[in-house]
Formats: sequence, C-alpha cells, structure tokens
Amino acid sequence: MDANERSLHFIEEIIENDLAENPAKKVHTRFPPEPNGYLHIGHAKSICLNFGIGAKYNGLTNLRFDDTNPTTEDTEYVDSIKADIRWLGFDWEDREYYASDYFDTLYGFAQKLIKKGLAYVDDSNADEIAEMKGNPTSPGVESPYRNRTIEENLDLFERMKQGEFADGSRVLRAKIDMSSPNMHMRDPVMYRIKKAHHHRTGDDWCIYPMYDFAHGQSDSVEEITYSLCTLEFENHRPLYDWFIKELEIFPSRQIEFARLNVSYMITSKRRLLKLVEEGYVSGWDDPRMPTIAGLRRRGYTPASLRVFSEKVGVAKRDNLIELALLEFCIREDLNKKAERVMVVLDPVKLVIENYPEDQMEYLETENNPEDEAAGVRKLAFGRELYIERSDWMENPPKKYFRLGPDRTVRLKSAYIIHCHSFSTDAEGQVSEIKCTYYPNSKSGEDVSGIQAKGTLHWVSKREAISGEIRLYENLFTDAEPTNHEDKDFLEFINPDSLKVLKDAKFEPSLSNVPAERHFQFLRTGYFVTDPDSKPGYPVFNRIVGLKDSWSKKKQ
Ligand code: ATP
Ligand code: MG
Repeated sequence: MDANERSLHFIEEIIENDLAENPAKKVHTRFPPEPNGYLHIGHAKSICLNFGIGAKYNGLTNLRFDDTNPTTEDTEYVDSIKADIRWLGFDWEDREYYASDYFDTLYGFAQKLIKKGLAYVDDSNADEIAEMKGNPTSPGVESPYRNRTIEENLDLFERMKQGEFADGSRVLRAKIDMSSPNMHMRDPVMYRIKKAHHHRTGDDWCIYPMYDFAHGQSDSVEEITYSLCTLEFENHRPLYDWFIKELEIFPSRQIEFARLNVSYMITSKRRLLKLVEEGYVSGWDDPRMPTIAGLRRRGYTPASLRVFSEKVGVAKRDNLIELALLEFCIREDLNKKAERVMVVLDPVKLVIENYPEDQMEYLETENNPEDEAAGVRKLAFGRELYIERSDWMENPPKKYFRLGPDRTVRLKSAYIIHCHSFSTDAEGQVSEIKCTYYPNSKSGEDVSGIQAKGTLHWVSKREAISGEIRLYENLFTDAEPTNHEDKDFLEFINPDSLKVLKDAKFEPSLSNVPAERHFQFLRTGYFVTDPDSKPGYPVFNRIVGLKDSWSKKKQ
C-alpha cells in the first residue's frame, strides 16, 4: 500500500493544517532511541513514522540517542541501532546527535532556572521525596529545602557537578507546584548525582539530567518541530511545555500516538534483555525475538516491515495488532520475489524400481511462477530420491492425496509414480518406499492419461546435499504474555518454539547460498539462509509457512 492511497492519519492532519496556515513551516522530526537495548518491532513503527513524515513533507529527520542514563547504556547498542535503521532503509545523513552532546547546554538551562528562582537543590533522599510527593488525590508537601536562596542553590548545584557529594545525597528539582493534580508537575527532579562512567562523556560528569529534563530540551536545541512520542508521555507534556516557556527556548510540539503491540510478541527492552541474559533465546538476534535484528535473521525484509508499519496505521489508543498481519506482509513481499526450490525437511528414501540404475536426467522447472523473468533451472532426477516423510501414510484415509501403498502421485516437474511396496525399520517407521514410474508422464509432455491428484516435492538422492532447517513457533504461548497481573511473562515461554531438523535434503543449488537470501521451499514455506551456514552445509530458518490466516479472516 502506498502512503498516498490511504486517508491521512491524525498526525498528518495536524501537520497539513499547520502547513495550510503557514506554508513556510519546516517539518523536522527525530527518532530518539535510548541505547540500552536492541530496537524492536515497536521502534520499527516509530522509525517508519518519523522518517516517513520527514520525507513526505520535504522535511528532515534526526537520529538522536537519548543517552542520559550511563549505567544502562552501551556503544554496542548505539551500533546495533544504527545498523537496524539503515537496514530498514532510512538515512539520517549527518544528523546523528546525542543528548550527551548537550550536557553543557542542559547544565546552563538548569542554572537559568535556578537564577529565575524556579529550581532548587534538595537534600532529601529518594524515599523522602517520594513520600512528600503525595498521591494524585491528595496534594504533596513542600520540601524543607524548597526556599533556599538562589546563591545557595547555584553554589550547591556547582558543587554537585564538582563531585563533592555522594550519589543520592542531593538532587536538583524544578520549583513548580506541589499540589498540582499532575504528579509530574510536583517539583520533578531535574538532575541526580551518579558517579558512573558514561559511554561517550567518560568521567566528565557525575551529575546526569533526568529524561524529563533532557528529552524536550534536546528537541528544542535541534529545533524539532514535531516531537512524536508514545502515549505514556502525554502526562509529561505540561512539564515539557513549562520548561520551554520558562527557558524561552524553541517550542517543539509534542504529539502522542499509541504504542504498537503485536500479539505473541513483547515490546519492552527490559524484558527482552531478560530473555537474552537468562538464556531463553540465543541472543538479541535470535529469530524468535521481536527485535529488528531478530526479525531480520528470521527472514523478514525491510519492505515487509515498512508495509506492515503502514498498514497498522497510527492510533490514538492502545490496541493489539495480530501477528498474522505481519506474516501476511512478508508472504506478500516474498511471493513476488522468492525463487521456488525443492527441499525435503524430513527425508525418506524412495526408489523407482523401473528407472535404470546408472541413468540421470535433468528436468526443467520454473524458478518463480509469479515472475517469468526469474527463468528456469534444471533438476537432477534419478532412480533414488528423497521425499517428505509426512507425504507418506501407510493407512491413508480416502481424501489423502499423497503417497501410500498402491497410490499414485506426481513428482513436481517430473513423472507420475505408483507405490507398490515399502519397508520399515525396527520401530515400524517407513524406511524405504518402492515405486514404478510412467515414462510417458513427464511434466509438460504427459501422454499417459493417468490421473494423479497430489503433487509432491522431492530431491535426487545422489545430488542432494544435507543441511539444517530451523522451524520456529511463537516464543510465547499467550497472545499477551505481559498482560497478566498474577503471572510473570516468563511463565508463558513456549518450550517448543524451536525445532531443529539436522538432516534435511537440499537441491545442490542451495549448498553455498549467501546470507539473507529468501526462498520459497515448495509446499513447506518461506525460508532464509541463516548466518550459521557453512560451505556445503546450509542452515535455513523458516520465516513463515505458506498458509495465510490473515486474508481468510478478513473475508
Ligand atoms: P522500551 O519500553 O522498549 O524500553 P522505550 O520507549 O523506552 O521502549 P526508547 O528507546 O526510549 O524505548 O524509544 C525510542 C522511540 O521509540 C520513542 O520515541 C518511543 O516512543 C518509540 N517506541 C518505543 N516503543 C514503541 C512501540 N511499541 N510502538 C511505537 N513506538 C515505540
Ligand atoms: Mg524510553
């Protein structure tokens, strides 16, 4: 879907109204991640929204790292965030900023408020401050330090910066209104002492601005006109507006939209970190993770994520998007682009007894019926093949169109075969299927007149290469694992979310495929090469199966 084909969402409406009034108004947005984890599907939505609006209105979009909390932030995260945004297809050009670039400016802003009598150093500890704040239905209590003189406040704040005081012993607070119905206006903390090493400013600072005193001001410094953020910041807006007014700085406008939530996925960096640290997944890029890195390794394409983000729209209220929509988007994308190949996930040997032992032939098959330009390739065909174990049943029901004793099927792009016997192993599992083929039934030249209802995929035993297939299910057994008051989300971990098949049989063309190549394996789904692949031993991840549960539901 093209952005121009749908009606405007509410943020575009606001912008277009502004532009109608003032055509010279600049549209300048930013994506402001905190580098304390990898980006997830929700961030992808925010990236597409911010960069999308920047591009649509001939504006600009900055990348700004909100790095005001030295203890949780790391350059590994900075690097991964940049890689993810680029991979999604967006470019911040030379506008890569850091809130830490503004530490001097922010310090100056704080001094300005002190000088206006609008900020003070409080010697109370965190518990005392929380206690004095009161609760939404009753007013708070003013701190005994609230009426210090400007000179004393300036001196103490400077000495906080010099490192004279211990962590947690003092904070700088805005002097606003301890009886405001909005808790964020009850003298919020602006600065705290934290003797911690910062990933960019090193040990230059031992006081750090709170998010609420850094975020809005950073927007102002960069002259961001539309500061788009998620709904939880709606209550913070009066505070940001107060800072803008009292500091007399650039008036960025904050607009809140609903967070993206997707069923069976979680979108909280803190919880995702827990999955990584406690070993529930193999890392931030585990293909079951809702991180951009995980989705990428799973085989989602940038285009599929951009289309998804467009389709979910921009809401003002929280809602839950079905995972099936995301899966629909990748199927749509890959159906057009992905080459079809034959891979047998769980092989069983099939022998065509009337096919000469030393004979091989090369049969033509199309690479993508949806795309003529994709061309054709040759498949080796011989006496011994592999077919899918699940395509065989010893005692099949009537409507079963696959293979069984005395059944007839077509082998894709090859011949019709008839099964006349089979052998089993010690456990009674089929180990070899014996068939005959009809030489005059070759695909495209079939004159046999024989009816075969089912068509099976296969690979030639002699030419096939072995490799690994990783099949994934949802990481959680519940659609909203974080939405249970009485249960931790970890209780809903799906123990069967990964199934590894170590002896899959591939067409030889798949033996050395570069990373991140997408294919449709006939009848079994869309797959992508995993970076764990080795020359001659491919490893593929299943992205999704072929069956679409989204369009069906819509009908
Ligand atoms: P988390 O709760 O996962 O830590 P966050 O909001 O604290 O998320 P930030 O790095 O601060 O993470 O987010 C960067 C930007 O992405 C913010 O503007 C934030 O509002 C937006 N964002 C985060 N999560 C979502 C989401 N689920 N849907 C849409 N936007 C999101
Ligand atoms: Mg945040």
